[in-house]
Amino acid sequence: MQTLQGIAVSPGMVIGEALVMDSEGFRIPRRFVARDAVEHELERLAKAVDSAAGEIARNRDAVSRELGAQYGAIFDAHLQMLRDPQLRMEVETLIREKHYSPEYAVSRSLRRYAKVFEALESSYLAHRASDISDIEKRLLRHLLGLKREGLTQLTSPVIVLAHDLTPSETASLNRQFVRGFATEMGGPSSHTAIVAQGLEIPAVVGAGTFLTDVSGGDLVIIDGHQGLVILQPDEETVARYRHEAEEGRSLAVRLGELRDLPAETTDGARIELLGNIEFPHEVTLCKERGSAGIGLYRTEFLYLGAETDPSEEVHYQAYAEVARAMRGQPVVIRTLDLGADKMKSLPTPEDERNPFLGLRSIRLSLRNVPLFRTQLRAILRASAEGDVRVMFPLISTLRELRQAKMVLADVVEDLEEHGVPFNRAVPVGMMVEVPAAVLMIDHFVREVDFISIGTNDLVQYTLAVDRGNKDVASLYNSCDPAVLRLIQWTIDAGGKAGIDVNLCGQMGGIPAYTMLLLGMGLRRLSIAPSQIPEIKKICRSVTIEHCRAVAQRAATMENARDIKNYLKEELKRVLPEFVS
Ligand code: PEP
Ligand code: MG
Repeated sequence: MQTLQGIAVSPGMVIGEALVMDSEGFRIPRRFVARDAVEHELERLAKAVDSAAGEIARNRDAVSRELGAQYGAIFDAHLQMLRDPQLRMEVETLIREKHYSPEYAVSRSLRRYAKVFEALESSYLAHRASDISDIEKRLLRHLLGLKREGLTQLTSPVIVLAHDLTPSETASLNRQFVRGFATEMGGPSSHTAIVAQGLEIPAVVGAGTFLTDVSGGDLVIIDGHQGLVILQPDEETVARYRHEAEEGRSLAVRLGELRDLPAETTDGARIELLGNIEFPHEVTLCKERGSAGIGLYRTEFLYLGAETDPSEEVHYQAYAEVARAMRGQPVVIRTLDLGADKMKSLPTPEDERNPFLGLRSIRLSLRNVPLFRTQLRAILRASAEGDVRVMFPLISTLRELRQAKMVLADVVEDLEEHGVPFNRAVPVGMMVEVPAAVLMIDHFVREVDFISIGTNDLVQYTLAVDRGNKDVASLYNSCDPAVLRLIQWTIDAGGKAGIDVNLCGQMGGIPAYTMLLLGMGLRRLSIAPSQIPEIKKICRSVTIEHCRAVAQRAATMENARDIKNYLKEELKRVLPEFVS
């Protein structure tokens, strides 16, 4: 049994068989072969090595002809490694003595070599690790041949273990069979994490290197509460997790009973709990969980996986579907927030070294006005179908907000001229997720109908910590005192101006923060639909007076860890079963 600590990004726990993905997104098959198949497997290995060697030699000859022998020599080095007798002996011994499949033996041996290179001081030698991984991929391709399978051909429940998953790969996971996943890379608020929550499957990211220690078919536990990945668990651990999973199910049933009850504190304050969605079909989840509307529709997910930019009609159909389904409840449609880790078909600058500080989000929309107009037309047209509101992401300056509003005004005029039906009074809001916007918040609140605090980015930009990087994940603290001050200023400024203030970052869905956020004055939270029942239960168990006292006490503390511990203690006093 091996237990790895990663970052919990989607709650729940699951026990099941591992499906291990290689770095190209293909499955690495099971570890063992039958004893009497060993000779056949060794032959398969020999054939794969020969075909891979033939392929490398052909590449060498072609490159030598085109560019000269010195470039072709790069492939000679690959050939030498592939033909290395020591490596061959190691792989063959694993097949002969441990009855490993050739695929598993090749992966295991070559990854061990790659690890040694990676650890070397010299960056030249460390780069050789990628040559080794090249050889591994090539050999696997030849071994698996046409049997190479991705994630689409699943027929039984699995837990996916991968080096990394992009947001679009995560979005296309088949929920019927993929019961959970864990990745070596990734950070606490990456969009992969957000999509996992939307799918409602337990997930852990940033667990560090572990794929070499596991094989397809091994038993694995994903603990999406504690952020644990347990490989080959012992019987006692399995029994404990089965029991906890059972308890989790009965808690979920109890919480389900709250669906049609209001999120009202015991002293009568009404809290609006809205849902965050990435895809129109998630509206069903929001309704099942009793959301009061959609507080954040991340429309950029229309782009993920699409070959071409979606047309106005594609945008419109998606938005109108959501607006109709919500039957008059608010639907906040955020304009495209592409870029950073969510980039697809739009051109990016060639040398974007800091994509989170680069051409993303509203900046990208303002540079691509025709595309921005297309989306705004679709949103406005959908406003005839329900209570649709428009929200601009990542606003940093007043000029940016005014430019965005000007494009919107232009589209409004256009629609009016052509007699297209839409809501002339569509509310316009902005996300507050850049410290600069908070510093100027007294100006911003005069120019919008509502604001929504995006803590995922606000934390990242305030603390200078990449939200998607596991190596700095311990520095990514939503309750850092600096972040809390920015949130407080924003809430106060919104209150003074008399406009709605929402919070739509992941922080809003974490039980330990609910009392704090209510105490700071928030009455509207937009969260992953899966979190609504839990957060509603907390709202219905506390008084605003108590929450205010909690927020005031937290405001006197100097570091995130003290604040988090204090908040957990306070929650435990109210609802012991909610604190893990
Ligand atoms: C945020 O930054 O908090 C947010 C809600 O937006 P996203 O996670 O899509 O960047
Ligand atoms: Mg954001």
